[in-house]
Amino acid sequence: LPVLAIVGRPNVGKSALVNRILGRREAVVEDVPGVTRDRVAYKAEWMGRRFTLVDTGGWEPDARGINASVAAQAEVAVDLADAVLFVVDVNVGATATDEHVVRMLRASRKPVMLVANKADDAIRDPEAAVLWSLGLGEPWPVSALHGRGVADLLDHVMSVLPEVSTVAKQEIGGPRRVAILGRPNVGKSSLLNKSAGEERVVVNELAGTTRDPVDEQIELGGKVWTFVDTAGIRKRVHLQQGADFYASLRTSAALEKAEVAVVVIDVTEPISVQDLRIIDLVLESGRALVMAYNKWDLLDDDRRRYLEREIEQDLAHIAWAPRVNISARTGRHLEKLVPALELALASWDTRIPTGKFNALIAELVGEHPHPVRGGRQPRILFGTQASTRPPTFVLFTTAFLDPGYRRFITRRLREVYGFEGTPIVVNMRVRE
Ligand code: GDP
Repeated sequence: LPVLAIVGRPNVGKSALVNRILGRREAVVEDVPGVTRDRVAYKAEWMGRRFTLVDTGGWEPDARGINASVAAQAEVAVDLADAVLFVVDVNVGATATDEHVVRMLRASRKPVMLVANKADDAIRDPEAAVLWSLGLGEPWPVSALHGRGVADLLDHVMSVLPEVSTVAKQEIGGPRRVAILGRPNVGKSSLLNKSAGEERVVVNELAGTTRDPVDEQIELGGKVWTFVDTAGIRKRVHLQQGADFYASLRTSAALEKAEVAVVVIDVTEPISVQDLRIIDLVLESGRALVMAYNKWDLLDDDRRRYLEREIEQDLAHIAWAPRVNISARTGRHLEKLVPALELALASWDTRIPTGKFNALIAELVGEHPHPVRGGRQPRILFGTQASTRPPTFVLFTTAFLDPGYRRFITRRLREVYGFEGTPIVVNMRVRE
């Protein structure tokens, strides 16, 4: 999906605008400074067109940090978005901070819409018009709070937003797209550098490959792969507050572009909430998953036993993900990454013919019928695989199936077909 990013100083009304675009009515929840907010990328829709809305302003810097934070937002937005909404408060106009960001946005050559927010009535429109001087084209007076002008703005956004994301290329038959994810310092950039070695391919030499400067073509195992958003890995943006926020923004954006994620875990440290959150983002995204346990060279026997226990306890829900135990420093087992990626992608692409799928369902029901509920037994009439990437199944039933029964079906599907490295989805449609 194309990506629209929202950039602007604190208090200009970015969150209100996000809520307005998403059509949510709930009050804006103020974030505590520096606290990570879970959601930074939203699925949005306008006039039947779907896009990803990225809110880059999830934390409020202290007074001294405002310049740095807005600049960082703008930088991230320009890297990750197909179009940018740059929001200013019409009552305040453009500040010195804004002008710095404006230069960056102008240089980006991405479509930028200048949004003059808090223009609650037409009296404000002349003040909005003054903002022509920023050189970002026509200012759009809107009131995120009351909705004024937002429809016109979105109509215009739809006219400049590409149909298919230029940052999230979905080429068929091109190199497969890999995201390397993980907390800071787990060894993502070491892994990338070690893998890329001297064999880094110059992007433009490859016909039909993406030219997004934040992605890189790397040859591994005799094949070219696109590693997405590597600028986010290589670049060392040092932010005191909000670093988590930008990290999770990067994670969401990279997943949007990727087909398979490599989640890197540092084996010298306990598996953390942050690791689990990254894995959750992968699961939510429906991308294929490979787990890379890095810094294996530093592992002693005690820690190793503890690690295995942690994996069993905390990561049981992704026991299906292929696992590689690597050292980005020594190069240990790096060659195992490619077969793991290939396995995960093959599972992600798997299609099970409808006949076979229904035969399996019949067998499962025969072996273990759905419990009778309220004198009636929910029946599965028919099933089919609705899509791949990830494999998504639909069961047509006479009533809702118990959650336990759905888990049974999902578990048996995995036992029979493996699906190593891919989430699978089983949906239900109740037919009267
Ligand atoms: P990133 O933030 O995830 O990109 O992490 P880096 O690649 O920058 O690595 C963080 C630190 O861990 C650096 O000092 C690396 O040299 C070190 N490191 C990365 N991988 C390994 C490894 O496999 N073994 C050891 N011993 N150190 C590693």
